[in-house]
Amino acid sequence: MLSWDPRALAVLERLHGAGFHTVLVGGCVRDSLLSIPPHDYDIATAARPEQVLELCRDFRCVETGLRHGTVTVISQDLPVEVTTFRKEGDYTDHRRPDKVTFTDDLTEDLARRDFTINAMAWGTEGLSDPFGGQRDLSAGLIRCVGDPDRRFDEDALRPLRGLRLAAQLDFSLEEGTAAALRRHIPQLSYVAWERISAEFVRLLCSSAASRVLLEFPQAAVQIFPELGPTVGFDQRNPHHCYDVYTHSIKALAQVPPQPVLRLAALLHDVGKPPAFTLDEAGVGHFYGHPKISALLSEKALGRLRLDKVTLERTLTLIARHDLPVEPTRRWVGRWLSRLGADTFFDLMILKRADSLACAMPGGEREQIRRQAEALARTMLEEKACFTLKDLAVNGHDAMAAGLRGPEIGAALRSLLDQVAQGELPNEREALLSRLKK
Ligand code: ATP
Ligand code: MG
Repeated sequence: MLSWDPRALAVLERLHGAGFHTVLVGGCVRDSLLSIPPHDYDIATAARPEQVLELCRDFRCVETGLRHGTVTVISQDLPVEVTTFRKEGDYTDHRRPDKVTFTDDLTEDLARRDFTINAMAWGTEGLSDPFGGQRDLSAGLIRCVGDPDRRFDEDALRPLRGLRLAAQLDFSLEEGTAAALRRHIPQLSYVAWERISAEFVRLLCSSAASRVLLEFPQAAVQIFPELGPTVGFDQRNPHHCYDVYTHSIKALAQVPPQPVLRLAALLHDVGKPPAFTLDEAGVGHFYGHPKISALLSEKALGRLRLDKVTLERTLTLIARHDLPVEPTRRWVGRWLSRLGADTFFDLMILKRADSLACAMPGGEREQIRRQAEALARTMLEEKACFTLKDLAVNGHDAMAAGLRGPEIGAALRSLLDQVAQGELPNEREALLSRLKK
C-alpha cells in the first residue's frame, strides 16, 4: 500500500478539486513503490503556473521557475514542487531544452522524464505507468524512457543520474541503456561542475557505489582524469592483489558513506603511477606517493566546488594515509592535536580500509590501530589539551613575550605540539617561561 505525506496530498487535492488533472510524480512514486519514504515530493498538473499560484494562494508559494512551469508550494514546511505538464523542445546545449510547451496530457509529460522508474505518476485514478516503470522496478533495472542515445544526448547529466540511481538503489543498467551511457560519458564536459559534483558525491555515498564504479570506471575518470593512469595499473608488489583503481574502489567500499572518507579513499593512491619505481628484484614501490596524491587531488577536488572543511579534511587524509601508527600517548597526542579528533579517527578508518583492500591485510597493524584509537578515546575523556583554545597561554601572552606576526602562531603551535605529546605541562607559568625563551 502506498503511503504519502498528507501535506503533499493537501496540495494535490487542492488542484484536483479545482478540476485539474494532478498527480504525484517521479522520485516520490518510485521510492514509495520500493517502500522507501520519499525525501521530496513532485507534483505534475494540467493547471498552468498562474492557476497554481491562484489556487494555492493560502499556502506560501515560491515562483521557482514560472517560465518552465514550476511553483514550489510550501505545505506546512514541506516544499512541494508543482510543475505544469510539459513537453520539451530540442536540447542544443546538451543541458536544457531550448523551449518547453505546456500540455494537458500526462503521458507526454512522463515521456520527457529520464528513466522508466522515474516516469510513473500516482493520482486519484491510481498509478500511471506507460513506460514499464513497475516492471523495471521489480527487475532492479535502470532503463531510459525511449531511445537511450537520444535521451543521453539531450541532457548530458542523465548518464551520471543513471549511475547515481543504480548505486543508490543497487540496480543494474539495462543493456542498451548501459551501452549508450558509456558512449555519452564524455559529454559530461557540457555540464556545470556544481551539478556534476552534487550527483557524483551522492553516487560515492551510496550503498552500491563500489560496484557501479568498478563497472563504469570511465565515469570516475571523466570527472577525475587524474585517476586515468590508475585504471589497470599493475602494482608489481606482493602486498597488492589489485590494480591501483580496483584497490581504491575496494578501499572505498570499506569506509562509511561520508563524502570526506569516500573521496579520500577514491583518490588516496592517484599519486602511485607517477611515483612508481621497480627494484632489482622486479618489485614495484611507490615512495613518496601520498604527497603526490595530495597534490593531484587538490587539483581534482578543486573543480568539485566542495565546502572548505570537506576539501581540507579530504586532502589531509590523502596526504597522511601512509603515516605509521604508534600506540603511544606521545604519538596519539601529537596527531590528535595536529589533525583534530574527527580527522584522527577518520584516518584510522581510512588506513584500515586501505589495508583490507590489499593482498595481506596486516593483523598486527590492525592491533596497533585499535590500541591507538582506544588511547585517543581515553585521552579525549581526560580532557587533555589538543587545541590552541585549550592551551594555558594565548596570542596576547606571546605578544607580551616579544613575539610578532607569524611568529606568534608558530610559537603557539609548537607549544601545543609539546603539550599534546606530554613533553610540557599545560600550565601557564611553564608555558610563559618557554615563550620567553
Ligand atoms: P532524488 O530526489 O532521489 O534525487 P528524483 O528522481 O526524485 O531522485 P529529482 O531531481 O527530484 O530526482 O527529479 C524529480 C523527477 O524529475 C525525476 O524523478 C524525473 O522524473 C525528473 N527528472 C529530474 N531530472 C531529470 C533529467 N535530468 N532528465 C529528465 N528527467 C528528469
Ligand atoms: Mg526527488
